[in-house]
Amino acid sequence: MKLLEEKIRQEGQVIGTDILKVDMFLNHQIDVNLLDEMGKEFYRLFKDKGINKILTVESSGIAIAVMAAKYFNVPVVFAKKSSHKNVGNELYSAHSHSFTHGKDYEMIVSKKYLSPDDNILFIDDFLAGGNAAFSVLDILKQSGANLVGIGIAIEKGFQDGGKKIREMGIELQSLAIVEEMDEVEGINFRNAEC
Ligand code: 5GP
Repeated sequence: MKLLEEKIRQEGQVIGTDILKVDMFLNHQIDVNLLDEMGKEFYRLFKDKGINKILTVESSGIAIAVMAAKYFNVPVVFAKKSSHKNVGNELYSAHSHSFTHGKDYEMIVSKKYLSPDDNILFIDDFLAGGNAAFSVLDILKQSGANLVGIGIAIEKGFQDGGKKIREMGIELQSLAIVEEMDEVEGINFRNAEC
């Protein structure tokens, strides 16, 4: 998505070799018009798939998921992150690891909000090694809900989460795929739209 790639080029900040900071428009301050366009694009990509619910992970996936949900006219459920291992039996839970914080956590969703009748689109801000996505897959499996596809704002193509997910035959659509990035050289996108 050209608009998003331009915004990343203009305002994204590369930290070290593998972190892209997009606090200016996505992870701290939110550019509502850009996120609206991203929501519209996810709708265009997945509109014919019978999606009845969007699932995301707190906190940074929520804004994008909500924008997309307005177009699909469906509710958003966000998985919560808990530091407690003992989460009780009212919840689906999966162990996960945060790439940015370097910490383990339990991803939890109330059993009230996922069922085998659900056709789910999972949306998140970033895809790196795929830990968050694999924990979501685990939770969906426990609930019996059907995963229709995954929509990611920014995939870091040089990390292997995207490859693993596509190899599983899951429909994964990323609005921007960073092929390589460097603090000095800048950012290159896969299949950049000119
Ligand atoms: P994964 O679980 O795929 O390794 O990492 C995805 C999660 O980690 C996303 O939900 C996102 O919050 C965070 N993340 C991974 N890489 C980055 C990055 O380069 N920048 C930011 N801002 N978040 C990231």
